[in-house]
Amino acid sequence: RCRVSSHIKRQYSFLPDSYFYSSFFYSIHMLIDEVKSLRTVVNPDISKIRNIGIMAHIDAGKTTTTERMLYYSGYIRALGDVDDGDTVTDFMAQERERGITIQSAAVTFDWKSHRINLIDTPGHVDFTLEVERALRVLDGAVAVFDASAGVEAQTLTVWRQAEKHHVPCICFLNKMDNLGFSIQSIRDKLKANPVLLQTPIGSGKNFTGVVDLITNQKLIWKQKSVGDDGRAYEVKPLNELDDAAVLQEAKGARSALIEQVADLDDEFAELLLNDFIENLDAVPSIKLQAAVRRVTLARKGVPVLLGSSLKNKGVQPLLDAITAYLPAPNERHHDLVQWYKDDLCALAFKVLHDKQRGPLVFLRIYSGTLKAQTAVHNINRNSIERMSRLLVPFADQHVEIPSMPAGNIALTVGLKQTVTGDTIVLSKASAAAAARRAQNKADTGKKRGEHASVILSGVEVPDPVFFCTIEPPTMAKQADLENALNCLQREDPSLKVRVDPDSGQKCRHTAP
Ligand code: GDP
Repeated sequence: RCRVSSHIKRQYSFLPDSYFYSSFFYSIHMLIDEVKSLRTVVNPDISKIRNIGIMAHIDAGKTTTTERMLYYSGYIRALGDVDDGDTVTDFMAQERERGITIQSAAVTFDWKSHRINLIDTPGHVDFTLEVERALRVLDGAVAVFDASAGVEAQTLTVWRQAEKHHVPCICFLNKMDNLGFSIQSIRDKLKANPVLLQTPIGSGKNFTGVVDLITNQKLIWKQKSVGDDGRAYEVKPLNELDDAAVLQEAKGARSALIEQVADLDDEFAELLLNDFIENLDAVPSIKLQAAVRRVTLARKGVPVLLGSSLKNKGVQPLLDAITAYLPAPNERHHDLVQWYKDDLCALAFKVLHDKQRGPLVFLRIYSGTLKAQTAVHNINRNSIERMSRLLVPFADQHVEIPSMPAGNIALTVGLKQTVTGDTIVLSKASAAAAARRAQNKADTGKKRGEHASVILSGVEVPDPVFFCTIEPPTMAKQADLENALNCLQREDPSLKVRVDPDSGQKCRHTAP
């Protein structure tokens, strides 16, 4: 509770002291307390967890959109600006300098009683391996497009990778404040079935909001001043007094949406035929939303939302859509998890080196519970490692917790040998038990003769394409260089190091 309170003080340090004793502060306090009480930090119900990634072509607005999400959910106090290089997720100096996102960092935040773990996927074609690595641990993805540019080359590559992993997606057409938008390119280039959930109100510089076709409501961001952060927006039912063009477009789009969803979902089609054939307008929004969710999870269609992150419009409905349409971890099928039953099984998908805390390992927990201060077994290294601390990587702080159940993303301290892509389980005995279960199933089932794997398949590492030779400036730096190269290899399996037998120099090989 102390930690939560100090967090609130830090979060609201811009307020004068008197606020901390006013009812205004207590209402904020209660709100934050609700979100960040230790009970919810430790145990979000698995159905409320969303492990998602954002994929986008460079410059589509992924960083800006991520920043807005963290801001509206209360995890950052001021809006960062990618153009000034002060955003939370682009944390490497090189990323700031070049304005691109290279590393996949995981950031946790809560939105309307849901826990969202955002696994950042790079948007640059050179970092395909990083994208693969991130996609392995996602349950759903948001594709951000520059609305006026439509689908660009890199999004196509990442989209195919997401398809390979059967990841359900939603699309966000950003930069609606520029020119108009085209969903035709989603249809043509991605060969996907866009399900338009909103129509725009105004266009270009006059884009002020959207009509939510599910609920038939207008969402309007009235920019009252230049610095308006878009946190507050109006929600009003669409009615006959509204602008005729907006009304007509929304009516047509809602009927088209209902017909499209009925074509893709039998349960919804049956409901329409039985109860609403005479009056499509009367279809309850809750039924329509449930059908859109089924369509999304079955990957038969891709919900499309509109907005302008830079102008602070449309990001909150995007967050609502993430919780409404993308799957919880227990709605996804992970083959080998069944062999572990309730024993711990997790994948190390990212290793980072921290000067103070040593190696930090990001784990996606697939089954069982991860506990701080316990030993775990690394199947790939065949070694036992002790985990000292377990953290939730909230955007503004890492919150220490005693244990974490399946479905979550954890940041661990103390795993010294683990390499990106390793499978972490409870013990050697639990790995053996899982192997026996898998083998028994293989022997009795149609897969006779096949050995079922009990290792979460790591990332396929492409062959190196860049080679170089390095040596320390002095012999005294030799040990430091070796240590640094070892750390880098644990972070990045595509980096291979060998000593040149003739010159004794280290050779680094790097894959794309
Ligand atoms: P990323 O490369 O996908 O992470 O894209 P960024 O978030 O870095 O944005 C790229 C550029 O587009 C920056 O100059 C942003 O200020 C700008 N940008 C982002 N969102 C919008 C938007 O909604 N409208 C407009 N006009 N520009 C935007």
